[in-house]
Amino acid sequence: MAYKYIPYSTQEISDSDVTAVVTALTSGWLTGGRFVSDFEDAFSRYITSNYSTALSSGTAALHACMRAISLSPGDEVIVPSLSFIATANAVVYEQGIPVFCDVATDTLLIDTTKIQQHITPRTKAIIAVDYAGQLCDYQTLHEITDHYGLTLIADCCHSLGASQNTIKAGKLAHLSAFSFHPVKQLTTGEGGMVTTNSKDFYTVINKFRNHAIDHPPSERQQLAEHSYTICDLGWNYRITDIQAALGLNQLKRLDQWVAKRRQLANIYTAHFSEHPKITPLYTHSEEAHSYHLYVVTVPDRDIVFAKMREHNIGVNVHYIPIHMHEYYQKTFKASSGMCPVAENAYNHILSIPLYPSLSEDDQQYVIDSLIRIVDDL
Ligand SMILES: *Cc1c(COP(=O)(O)O)cnc(C)c1O
Repeated sequence: MAYKYIPYSTQEISDSDVTAVVTALTSGWLTGGRFVSDFEDAFSRYITSNYSTALSSGTAALHACMRAISLSPGDEVIVPSLSFIATANAVVYEQGIPVFCDVATDTLLIDTTKIQQHITPRTKAIIAVDYAGQLCDYQTLHEITDHYGLTLIADCCHSLGASQNTIKAGKLAHLSAFSFHPVKQLTTGEGGMVTTNSKDFYTVINKFRNHAIDHPPSERQQLAEHSYTICDLGWNYRITDIQAALGLNQLKRLDQWVAKRRQLANIYTAHFSEHPKITPLYTHSEEAHSYHLYVVTVPDRDIVFAKMREHNIGVNVHYIPIHMHEYYQKTFKASSGMCPVAENAYNHILSIPLYPSLSEDDQQYVIDSLIRIVDDL
């Protein structure tokens, strides 16, 4: 009999999550209510950031960051090529040009030694992506952005719960963006957050998610005023109270989930580290990794991928390098050969199942299957 399907990631939903969502549904405010502000306040306390703004997705959060730094058409933003497409798309939404930087071989994080060669008079910012959940080298990144007067943005869509010298992801850059898609560490169904210590950035983002209207409806109600002003083009990127209630309740279990992810990751690493053909990514420190993904490199990845899927194991590949996608090749003169490390990595990487409720038996099945498949190549 075939083993049951094991996804690479999935959400954790408890009875108290269900209760929280039902409470929001009957609270009188389905959007723009107190669950949204409570979620933002709790998130700020967790990160210890001055400001948090909840939005409808991680992509919206990244887009809001691009608005906050006031890109002019043609301004350049350096992004690692090995990321989800949204990292680069956010730059394009604001008429910027994403400039693709290669990644480091062992961690697949942006290669800080290759950033300077991409800096031009048009460079405005760097987006660092905490690939798989491991924090980038923010110290070196800040040295570069300070030297050239750039803004540092962290795409923390993988790294919620990670920290560097007890400073959490979300506080290591000028602006940080999170995603609450169901495969991430914490979910609201769809949702995102921007954290910052800058009041100016916060003010822009807070308006941008609501059509750039200066006063939100709750404020107008309090002031008993109907009028508002709009000075910029905004979006409807609001999150609902139904989603925020779920996020707020999930946040209570975040640290325990991250601890479980690390424990499961350590078990994988212990099994694969001696294997000649299965190579886990290099981990700098456990604290600086919250393991959104567990990524290994293997030979003949496509064969291993197909055989793992035959074993009902939901492996995945994160990611096709962004500069390899047709849209970027035809619009931004991106071409293969631009980021050789990312391109080579793409041929070998495999994300294997990792989520807090992955059982011991299921993890052992994944380990045994992968070792057997690779040994039989
Ligand atoms: C998930 C993700 C996003 C986008 O988040 P959504 O909530 O799906 O819009 C952006 N960047 C990275 C690296 C991601 O993994």
